[in-house]
Amino acid sequence: MTKVGVFLAKIVAIVNQKGGVGKTTTCVNLTSSLKEKGNRVLLCDFDPQANSTSGMGVDKAASRGVYDVLINGADVTASVAHTRYGDVLPSSKALAGAGIEMIDRENREFLLKQALDVLSPNYDYILIDCPPSLELLTLNALCAADGVIIPMQCEYYALEGLTDLVGSVKRVRAEKNKNLRIVALLRVMFDTRITLQQQVSTQLEEHFGDKVFKTIIPRNVRLAEAPSYGLPGVVYDRSSKGAKAYMACAEELIERMEKKHK
Ligand code: ADP
Ligand code: MG
Repeated sequence: MTKVGVFLAKIVAIVNQKGGVGKTTTCVNLTSSLKEKGNRVLLCDFDPQANSTSGMGVDKAASRGVYDVLINGADVTASVAHTRYGDVLPSSKALAGAGIEMIDRENREFLLKQALDVLSPNYDYILIDCPPSLELLTLNALCAADGVIIPMQCEYYALEGLTDLVGSVKRVRAEKNKNLRIVALLRVMFDTRITLQQQVSTQLEEHFGDKVFKTIIPRNVRLAEAPSYGLPGVVYDRSSKGAKAYMACAEELIERMEKKHK
């Protein structure tokens, strides 16, 4: 009897323990770009601020989404919201308390993985938007993911934080999830006029080589305006520099993820 293979989604967590560094913007725009290129995509919003949820045009007050799935056993498939720009497993403020509620659970690091494993056969890509910390929620994301994208601004302190983050990824790979790898560092909110940013950018390339995406996301006001319309930047103004950069970045992501599977 021939065995029919089940194709599983490639799961990528967008991680950085700092706030305001472009995780959500990256997650929303890569989701929409991957969808436009013909992929089946799910955005899992795993930050209690739920900015990805509203950024995709999903009402964050309407559901407790991923919180109810993890804490109350709600049906994960039924919790997915469908939009023209990609599917969304929404987040909500309630998720802020989940870290404490999960602490006594057996397998507490793997609760998100268990939920996403159910959805995985339905998608080509699942992107996880992480909260700004390296605590239990982010640990759950790292245990569920195959890869990590680290968006970062090219500033001095960004380099310091990077060491902790890379250390966390290595620890999780050694102890909990051997599939995990860093897919890429992504330079975001880049301003070519600022010398320090160019210096840090060059340092990143020297130190991390191919791990750095070639695409650089420029600082672009259209990307910042888009969420107030509940639209991804790549939909809101597809001809903007920011939108074009995220589309190019999605292309690089696809290339890297395909390579691994060959
Ligand atoms: P995080 O999810 O890491 O907290 P966000 O994606 O929410 O970061 O970005 C922080 C702020 O910066 C938001 O107001 C967002 O609209 C803005 N922003 C993000 N990327 C860009 C960019 N490339 N150009 C201009 N503004 C940006
Ligand atoms: Mg965010």
